[in-house]
Amino acid sequence: MTKHANNNLPLASATERAVLSRLGAEGAELRALYREADLVRRKYMGATVYLRGIIEFSNICRNSCLYCGINLANKTLQRYRMKPEEIVAQCGRALEQGCTTVVLQSGEDPWFTCERLCGMIREIKGKYPLAITLSIGERPRAEYLEMRRAGADRYLLRFETSAAKLFARLHPDSSLKKRLACLEAIRKAGFQPGSGFLIGLPGSNLETIARDIIFATRLRLDMIGCGPFIAHPETPLAGNPLLANRDVYFKTIAILRLLNPRAHIPATTAFDAMAPGNRDRLLTMGADVVMPNLTPARYRRLYMLYPNKPCVDEDDTLCGACLKRRLDALKRPIGTDFGHGWSASKSE
Ligand code: SAM
Repeated sequence: MTKHANNNLPLASATERAVLSRLGAEGAELRALYREADLVRRKYMGATVYLRGIIEFSNICRNSCLYCGINLANKTLQRYRMKPEEIVAQCGRALEQGCTTVVLQSGEDPWFTCERLCGMIREIKGKYPLAITLSIGERPRAEYLEMRRAGADRYLLRFETSAAKLFARLHPDSSLKKRLACLEAIRKAGFQPGSGFLIGLPGSNLETIARDIIFATRLRLDMIGCGPFIAHPETPLAGNPLLANRDVYFKTIAILRLLNPRAHIPATTAFDAMAPGNRDRLLTMGADVVMPNLTPARYRRLYMLYPNKPCVDEDDTLCGACLKRRLDALKRPIGTDFGHGWSASKSE
């Protein structure tokens, strides 16, 4: 047994072999894995599910990540950029829907300078009792500091894959080294750091997934967000299939919960693009967060990172209500506090 890096909990050592063995679980072993993950979630995170309303405020991106539907090279996509005042107003709707956090996500859109973003963060914080998570990609170190000072609480930047060569192939505009330096700067700026990876990227295999699970654990994250890679038809990775064994996606989340008992683990939207109801399943296998889509309805179809994204035809008031019904059915209460991560628990 080794001590857990996040919070000194004794846990089975996260060797690649041990993780691989659990990734191979079937039958009774598989059911036991899911049950164990649910028990660990219940013990360390409780029954509460936090709603983090996501506002996808711009699909303009200067990058050409090979997997991403809003990448620069996709010339078929109509681009949009919400106005700062529209974004601030939408945060009010998030609050009305029962969210205690807004996740502000976009492509890497240079129009949103640090100054504009900080102005927006201050305004949101001045108007609403909301925690703010930023998910806006790689930025210079000084900008992370500025945005943290302006009041943003958390920052989500996935490492996507811990395999450096694969990362380089998928991200012509970055490197794993650069991505990890950004994550380090995010932590040092005082954000609650969130990261994670894409499960089932072309060029990866079960060993890669095991290494990604261990890598995510060693990053000592407040939030671990992972989802299936789903091929978008207007990208260089078009046509790549989902993993034949769909259980691998779920096992990944369950194992992450066992190794990271106190991390927030969202049931990410991409799981529902694989099959409706998957997010609800994940909440019984270790997940404790869902992210209702609060992007105004007229933009949703345009933030198509991958096909079959759920809720794109709905009114922007419906996601919160629908999720509440689903959580009631699971007998899971909605968090009314901010649901900050373990590293910030003193400031709750
Ligand atoms: N630009 C910011 C960044 O890169 O961190 C935030 C927006 S980016 C579109 C958000 C996430 O979408 C990425 O971290 C990536 O994992 C996910 N994503 C993009 N394309 C995807 C795909 N085809 N399937 C599943 N997830 C995808």
